[in-house]
Amino acid sequence: MNAIRKPFAHLHMQFEQKIPCKTMDMDYMNTNQSAHGGREFGYIATRMGIKRKVIAGHWRDDKVLEGLNDWIRAALGWYELQNLRIARFGDNMRYVAVTEGNKVDAQIELGYEVHGYALGDLLEYINGVEEHEVERLLRLYKEEYCTIKGSVSDDEIMASLREAAKVEIGMRQFLEQGSFKAFTTTFENLHGLGQLPGLACQRLMRDGYGFGAEGDWKSAALVRIMKVMALGNDLGTSFIEDYVYHLEPGNTKELGAHMLEVCESIANDKPTLKVHPLSIGGKAAPARSVFTAKEGPAIQVCMVGFGDRFRVIVNEVDVVKQEEDMPSLPVARALWVPRPDLATAATAWILSGGAHHSCLSYSVSTEQIEDLCEILGVELVIIDSSTNIRDLKRKLRDNEIYYKLKNI
Ligand code: MN
Repeated sequence: MNAIRKPFAHLHMQFEQKIPCKTMDMDYMNTNQSAHGGREFGYIATRMGIKRKVIAGHWRDDKVLEGLNDWIRAALGWYELQNLRIARFGDNMRYVAVTEGNKVDAQIELGYEVHGYALGDLLEYINGVEEHEVERLLRLYKEEYCTIKGSVSDDEIMASLREAAKVEIGMRQFLEQGSFKAFTTTFENLHGLGQLPGLACQRLMRDGYGFGAEGDWKSAALVRIMKVMALGNDLGTSFIEDYVYHLEPGNTKELGAHMLEVCESIANDKPTLKVHPLSIGGKAAPARSVFTAKEGPAIQVCMVGFGDRFRVIVNEVDVVKQEEDMPSLPVARALWVPRPDLATAATAWILSGGAHHSCLSYSVSTEQIEDLCEILGVELVIIDSSTNIRDLKRKLRDNEIYYKLKNI
């Protein structure tokens, strides 16, 4: 058992659901003995300090199957982390602290590799894209997006879409060639690019790539593994940023979006392709896919680094309908009500040191993130309908002691 380095679940059950009272004898007990045998096995695993999930109950029970499903999805996330390579185009934006971190620690503790590249490395691919490939992708854009709009001239819109298509093709080739499944960009480093890659990031995310804006490799990894954890059942998983609050008394909500890069998998309506100038980055008007997110329960997850450890923070939210249009906001967005309420959730998130970047998922559950963190041995803070600040502060304080002692 000392050799076990893989995620480990102990399914504690027996074949028969009911005690066969009429025929019950000692032979039956001997062939259905997990009630005691499983405990002996549990003792030695606990004695040896082996991390695992214990799922107890009958194998036909929905709760048991759900527990096993959660663990399997967490194990998928773990496996992806062990094999994940992230390409990073440019460094961190504007000294932002929370998107920084120790890449060596991440590789040791979480498994993934972060590879940095200069924009010139990517440009070689983008500049090598052939005209017929661009034409083919432009035709696909026209088929996929019902409306193409912009606040610049028609010529500028066409030029922007051409550039976006080139970037998408070049980036895709770069990532495929290097076996990268996640990547980051930053508007502070766009040397040689005509525009901030918006549409390309959105479409690559939709196809399963992890993405983090502004050099945020921790979010890129998280988006990728959460997409893997949602595999075959993904109702929507996207990179997102805490954008703006709606603080009307009794009706508080939060708007999540980003400069451009939100994944179409969370879209409620058919996305519109838009070209608008971007006041940041000092480049031409970038193309982006614009939509509103679907309603439903979701989780917002981020990973932060504290030097001595990583911490994952989950906030359960309810994405709500966007009653009013926002005609002047040309980016994809999601409007949600955090649990237990915006003030408590924001306070808890801030006290936990949560980032402004996160991954929003309608499919990955809190339980699955919990299982993943247990497999990884990473600290987890959950903010849900039962959260209150007094208990959360105590938990954070207790965790400080536990993780400090654990690392001695
Ligand atoms: Mn951002």
